[in-house]
Amino acid sequence: MVEQAASGVERRDELAGNLAAVHADIDAAAAAAGRDPADVTLIVVTKLWPASDVAALAELGVSEVGENRVQELTTKRALLPASPATARLRWHLIGALQTNKAKAAVLAADVIESVDRPKLVQALRAAADKTGRSVDCLIQVSLDPEPTPGRAGVAPDRVAALAQLVAASPQLRLGGVMGVAPNGGDAVAAFGLLARVAAELRSDYPQARVMSAGMSSDFPAAIAAGATHVRIGTAVLGRRRTLR
Ligand SMILES: *Cc1c(COP(=O)(O)O)cnc(C)c1O
Repeated sequence: MVEQAASGVERRDELAGNLAAVHADIDAAAAAAGRDPADVTLIVVTKLWPASDVAALAELGVSEVGENRVQELTTKRALLPASPATARLRWHLIGALQTNKAKAAVLAADVIESVDRPKLVQALRAAADKTGRSVDCLIQVSLDPEPTPGRAGVAPDRVAALAQLVAASPQLRLGGVMGVAPNGGDAVAAFGLLARVAAELRSDYPQARVMSAGMSSDFPAAIAAGATHVRIGTAVLGRRRTLR
């Protein structure tokens, strides 16, 4: 027999169960850290999963979703059936962004979490100006102990200068910082560093309150360090067939 995709109802039940488990883990991690679980927002990372999953998640109460490619975000967003729940979704771009895609990103995303260099800020500023859109921006901070070629993120000591460029752009709202723990590295140390960078930024820009950190494998450590937003894909949707 040819294997069929799980029916919509089965998939919805699976997503509901996974979501409940992830929320329970978030609540437990917050409680262990003496934090209010309401201060931790779940962003479900839907990259490589179909728009039907995003629609199901929205109906299950998810309000924030993340994608790492502009094209995929734009297409998926356009494919969603209209409903109050899908209309409320906030779309986060969490992957590396090329300057030539700045306009598409500004048009399609509500939050750009991967702002990591002056040239990109210039491109986003120009795109926001041209399109009349406003967008929330997070500074992506490199948490690698050594500078690593090909890894995204600005060095911690360059965050202030980059933040100043964002803050000086009328349609870019400086929301805070984002970070990814180094592969196989010390997540506790990495999130501790990000928390210090976040606190420093907040002392200059009180509105920049977001610390986006933590994925399926390390979100309790991120919550312990003070993450306000966790980006979780696999634990909600299952294993992606392609690694990225
Ligand atoms: C894919 C991705 C995630 C989610 O990873 P999971 O391990 O599936 O939870 C989070 N953040 C970024 C930047 C990603 O690219």
